[in-house]
Amino acid sequence: MKLGHEQSSQPEKGWRGRAGRREASARGPWDAFDALLLIGGPIRGQLAIRVENGDTPATLGATLALCSFFRVHHVLIGQSSIAAALLHQTTTTTTTTPAASLTCHSPTMLVRVRSKDGNFRFEFAPNDTVAQLVAKILETSPDAEPATLTISNVPRGNETLASTLQQNQTLSDIGLKHGDLVFVGYQARAAPSSSAAARPVESTGAATSTSSGGDRAQKVWETVAEDPVDQYWRSKDGKIPRGRDTQFCKHGPNAMCDHCMPLEPYDAGYHTEHNVKHLSYHAYLQKLQPKGSKATSTTSTLPPLNPLSYKVKVPCPSGGHPNWPLGICTACQPSAITLQSQPFRMVDHLEIASVDIVDRFLQAWRKTGTQRFGWMIGRYEPYDKVPMGVKAVVEAIHEPPQLGDLDGLTLGLPWEEEPRIRELAKLASAPLTIVGYIFTDLVTDPEDKTVNIYKRHPQSFFLAGLEAIFAAKIQLANPTPSRSSPTGSFASRMVTAVLTGTEDGQIDISAYQVSEQACAMVEADMIEASIDPGIIRVKEEDRSEDSARYVPDVFFRYKNEYGLEVKKSAKPCFPVEYLLVNVSHGFPQSPSPLFRSTKFAIENRPGLEDQNMEGVMRELSRLGAPALTESGGGDSSKRSELLRYLSDWHLVAFLETTQLLQPDDIKILLQVASAADLDDTSAFNKLIHTEGWRNLMVFTQEMAPERPSASAPTSSHTAMDEDIPPEVFEQIAREQAASQGGTRGASPPQDNIRICPHC
Ligand SMILES: [Zn+2]
Ligand SMILES: [Zn+2]
Repeated sequence: MKLGHEQSSQPEKGWRGRAGRREASARGPWDAFDALLLIGGPIRGQLAIRVENGDTPATLGATLALCSFFRVHHVLIGQSSIAAALLHQTTTTTTTTPAASLTCHSPTMLVRVRSKDGNFRFEFAPNDTVAQLVAKILETSPDAEPATLTISNVPRGNETLASTLQQNQTLSDIGLKHGDLVFVGYQARAAPSSSAAARPVESTGAATSTSSGGDRAQKVWETVAEDPVDQYWRSKDGKIPRGRDTQFCKHGPNAMCDHCMPLEPYDAGYHTEHNVKHLSYHAYLQKLQPKGSKATSTTSTLPPLNPLSYKVKVPCPSGGHPNWPLGICTACQPSAITLQSQPFRMVDHLEIASVDIVDRFLQAWRKTGTQRFGWMIGRYEPYDKVPMGVKAVVEAIHEPPQLGDLDGLTLGLPWEEEPRIRELAKLASAPLTIVGYIFTDLVTDPEDKTVNIYKRHPQSFFLAGLEAIFAAKIQLANPTPSRSSPTGSFASRMVTAVLTGTEDGQIDISAYQVSEQACAMVEADMIEASIDPGIIRVKEEDRSEDSARYVPDVFFRYKNEYGLEVKKSAKPCFPVEYLLVNVSHGFPQSPSPLFRSTKFAIENRPGLEDQNMEGVMRELSRLGAPALTESGGGDSSKRSELLRYLSDWHLVAFLETTQLLQPDDIKILLQVASAADLDDTSAFNKLIHTEGWRNLMVFTQEMAPERPSASAPTSSHTAMDEDIPPEVFEQIAREQAASQGGTRGASPPQDNIRICPHC
């Protein structure tokens, strides 16, 4: 099915997968805001504009005027009459051909907090709780006596004691929306008790040691749990070993000299020689804080990293004028920005565990011609091709609800299933997380369909402006925990990957991150996409109360035609590539993916592939699963075949939504599915004793004979059209189960049978 422009005004048609929607039905993916206008440009690109309750046609009109070269593309939810009216005004505009791009808006809910300690911004999911908000506020106000903490929606008055709120209420329950400002008040904790308690007995030193002792509680970075890959590199010195230099080393085999001594992991010569443009994160840390300084560091040493911020400091540290936007001075304004290549990168390499993963992802595009987006599920590992390197290893691509077009796609954010998928991923035998996202930008040559057009290259662009801003938002929303940053987190390891045509007409991946400068500019609302995908616009300064934005001077450097380095103002616009960090990519030489199968139907491909229980049970029956028992029942090749079928991320993620298996059972299933050694029978033996698996086998036995199995392993999605709707099928099964349940000794007691959630 092609999703054309006609359907796109009713996106919910294509948006709802069948599985796992029961709980979700009350909350659509768009509940976090009222409406989203997507505006597609005549040349390329789409812009997303959020419409909120307070907006008027005038404010929206002003925004639209800024991008008059765009046309309104979709309205994604009809709650806002303004959005509907606007759509009505603009849908008559002609449709042209925008190129592939992503729409973007904040994936989570941003809540601003103002207290006497300053202004803070936190990202929350709309269903985060009051307790989480209070915890965040207390982090920013270490002196606050928690019992006295008040919050209010206005600067004065309306204060509510945080302790009187129900702590498990969600933020949306108490009426907080994206972008809301919360005013915080509190009374300071009685000072003497805390400092007396904090002062250690051995404090014989100077005044500095006692004061730093008092600060100990505030050192959030010291208690941060870092990713295992960071723990690994922190335990190494990362030195680059060198062999004996046959020309210069004059010493014996056990000695060492300047010519053969190991190099520091940040050695500039080594990086130039090996053509590595960016230091790895840990090599960069070693450069900032060389080994040895760590050992001798006193508690007064601050962590070496400094998260970038280009926002005006509120309140002003000088205290000499009213807060921005009413006043500004050199003490509170961000200084001029010179865009430069980032010396480090958080991820050096993107590795896709097997070609099948990408191939399966591409099938959606191959069958429909429409572009596709997926979240990359994987983990971070040491990468040995660069000193102290980190690679993201992708084990699966999970596809969220989306609308594909020939020239782009529309994505629902926040992604309502993200918390479930993150929790599930953690349960794998090697814990997984979301390591980034991948999307296609593929157009075949009309002359020769086997050739993909080479769109992204040095003379055009690598990432479009809108995509770079999207990447910045994703990175901002997913910071990396860090013990080397005073805030306890630094930058992000979310990778952006594009599948696009190569120079010779093939398809390849390009992987990027955007720089910390890009993220800080997006966070300070300073940049926007332009009609030229390779160009970013710097926004105008704005002093109005609600949308105040200070934009300092922005420069970039380039080599002119005489080879001289020239500094140029980046206002009003500059090339996107100044914001990009390259990440290399590849496939392992001998693949050993965690999930051995990619055959099961992929989620959120309505009309193309269908995930349903009937297909699963038909396949389980074909594989003889019910006959397999612990004591080697059934032959081992059957078991092996079954395990290969079960070792599929999409299958496990789907089975979780059916609720046929309890969370504990799902955990066991996922561990079996992602076991390092699939033929290790102990995990499988555990699985077949779970109640969920036994129930699944009962259903399988009872349903399978009803339908002749003409099925090949892949048929669950290709044969979708003849499928009996699963609801009907399961109803039949339930009736059968009810009538036969007591007759078989081997089956579990009747009251143990959980009914499939579709019914
Ligand atoms: Zn030597
Ligand atoms: Zn100031």
